[in-house]
Amino acid sequence: MATTHKTRMLIIGSGPAGLSAAIYGARAGMEPIVVQGLQPGGQLTITTDVENYPGFRDVIQGPWLMQEMQAQAEHVGTRMMWDTIVDIDLSGSPFRATGDGGDIYEGDTLVIATGAQAKWLGVPGEQELGGKGVSACATCDGFFYRGKKVVVIGGGNTAVEEALYLTNHSPDVTLIHRRDSLRAEKILQDRLFAHKGIKVLWNKTVDRFVGDTGGAGLTGLDLTDTETGETSHIETDGAFVAIGHAPATELFRDKLPMDAGGYLLVEPGTPRTSVPGIFACGDVMDHVYRQAVTAAGTGCMAALDAERFLAARDFANAKDVAEA
Ligand code: FAD
Ligand code: NAP
Repeated sequence: MATTHKTRMLIIGSGPAGLSAAIYGARAGMEPIVVQGLQPGGQLTITTDVENYPGFRDVIQGPWLMQEMQAQAEHVGTRMMWDTIVDIDLSGSPFRATGDGGDIYEGDTLVIATGAQAKWLGVPGEQELGGKGVSACATCDGFFYRGKKVVVIGGGNTAVEEALYLTNHSPDVTLIHRRDSLRAEKILQDRLFAHKGIKVLWNKTVDRFVGDTGGAGLTGLDLTDTETGETSHIETDGAFVAIGHAPATELFRDKLPMDAGGYLLVEPGTPRTSVPGIFACGDVMDHVYRQAVTAAGTGCMAALDAERFLAARDFANAKDVAEA
């Protein structure tokens, strides 16, 4: 039977932003509820080494970091819900969110921390061969390509990390990028170029993923050279699309202001949306930095602002009662 869950602070999303908001919100006595969504722990659960989250001298693992964050949030009083929000009513506080099983979540304040999801190229064969040679997560699927030939498409940190990671399984890794320089951090580029098991194909776009959806799966990719217009074909057993992420904001379309890329708009320097009592933090509102530590930082800001919002409202209500 569908249940209604009430809280002073409803948080949608369980990545670094949502869990940091939960830690601060719980410690401020707001008894937050976190609705975890389809990816409990968020994007860091699909990576391995994390070397830039402060506080750890040695390399840590993304899934481990997120387990620790969740444990900390629960330890201070957060309620974690295995649910995904499919509908939302933002017309006034309490804000009402509906889970995919019909449960209702009512929050006096709402923290949106739905992060981002992998982008796809949108070319023929990609969708049809998804899970049959085409993937967006090397750490999830790289193991299936032990001893085989793989390609990674993209030129950012994710693509370079995926290519490096895949060398653990594959002796033949090719990075395919649409330009002649990478946007990944220099330290990652240095590692990539130094690795003998990785080749780079510059100035190439993917026209089509080729293969047999019924049997062999992916067998290769048709490419075009962006400089010469020349077309070519590369044979491969696996292709990892790593061209970035898009904000998960479909739920808020026509309900909250967003920019052309779908990122939620907030008051500059704050997590405040245009609706009082609703805050956005992490990758869902940040198209510039998109790091675990910045997501955690804005999650903290969202919780502090939510607490201030409720304190001001409670004070105003108490004053009205006293004056009546
Ligand atoms: P996310 O981590 O994207 O979490 C979003 C959450 O929202 C998820 O829990 C999801 O289930 C939930 N959600 C979405 N929609 C709904 C819904 N409708 N209902 C309920 N819940 C919902 N950053 C670093 O600082 N260092 C790194 O080494 C690093 N490595 C990375 C490696 C990879 C492969 C990737 C993809 C990213 C990496 N990043 C790294 C970036 C970092 O992971 C993100 O910046 C960070 O996770 C953003 O946190 P977030 O909480 O905003 O969102
Ligand atoms: P990103 O930085 O946005 O890079 C996306 C890459 O894909 C770019 O090289 C882009 O090419 C390419 N691309 C985009 N659309 C394409 C298309 N249609 N066809 C072909 N190529 C396309 O995304 P990201 O690498 O996923 O990183 C996202 C954020 O997470 C970044 O802020 C990053 O710093 C962070 N992150 C950090 C770490 C880390 O700190 N170790 C690891 C992973 C991710 P162009 O260069 O030509 O635009």
